[in-house]
Amino acid sequence: MVGFGPGAEDHLTPIARKAIERADVVIGYRTYIDLVRHLVNGKSVIETGMTEEIDRATQAVELAYQGQHVVLVSSGDVGIYGMAGLAFEVLGEKGWTGEEIEVSVLPGITALSACASLLGAPLMHDFASISLSDLLTPWEVIRKRLEAAAMADFVVALYNPRSSKRVRQVEEAREILLSHRGADTPVGIVKSAMRDGETVVITTLDHMLEHPIGMLTTILVGNSQTRLLAGRMVTPRGYRNKYDLETGEKIAKKKGSGSE
Ligand code: SAH
Repeated sequence: MVGFGPGAEDHLTPIARKAIERADVVIGYRTYIDLVRHLVNGKSVIETGMTEEIDRATQAVELAYQGQHVVLVSSGDVGIYGMAGLAFEVLGEKGWTGEEIEVSVLPGITALSACASLLGAPLMHDFASISLSDLLTPWEVIRKRLEAAAMADFVVALYNPRSSKRVRQVEEAREILLSHRGADTPVGIVKSAMRDGETVVITTLDHMLEHPIGMLTTILVGNSQTRLLAGRMVTPRGYRNKYDLETGEKIAKKKGSGSE
């Protein structure tokens, strides 16, 4: 199970590349296979559409049981909203004990890391990642998580924010966040990070819906401390409360300002 990162070749890990090169069969969502097309020339390739995840996982397991070296790819990290979990579930159904075939999971740069790097440093403090897709998760559960993350002042990464059929979720997510933090809270909207068509927008909770948002977009919503510094989105970790950032010296401790 291989995550190949956000898209550009330079962000593919060397071990992921080696795994793809050594594979007999590469299986993945068609759009993702396109991103690694040059690495899979001459191999057996199984490409399927977006809703055929179960087929992909089942075929991967079947072919592995037949003795083939199979690589199942996801973009980003295969273990983050990727194919790894489903593949393990299919293995579980088959009665895999961990012995019959060897399985490894190779991580990749997930969308939230890729997008954060393009925005500045928005994930310097605790954050929550929430997928707005209610295809497999009831919207009530997603709402509850949004509410909890908003209330607890987490920086929030929103995966799968909107599709052509699913438009209301991102609007509701914004409303929930707005009920706990300021309208001027910085928001980063990144489309196609590290791929063709990359766009990076820094806006606010108030104005975020005025920008294009789709299936190739990840949204990062700042916490109450997130600031813009020279056009970059930065969430301070708290050094400024403890150190003089010019001299590096420790500021005399204020009462109740945390443990050493
Ligand atoms: N396994 C992937 C996530 C798959 S879910 C990963 O770890 O990144 C699909 C969602 O991921 C998209 O709707 C979008 O929100 C996000 N995403 C994936 N690739 C992206 C990219 N290059 N730029 C911005 N967002 C991306």
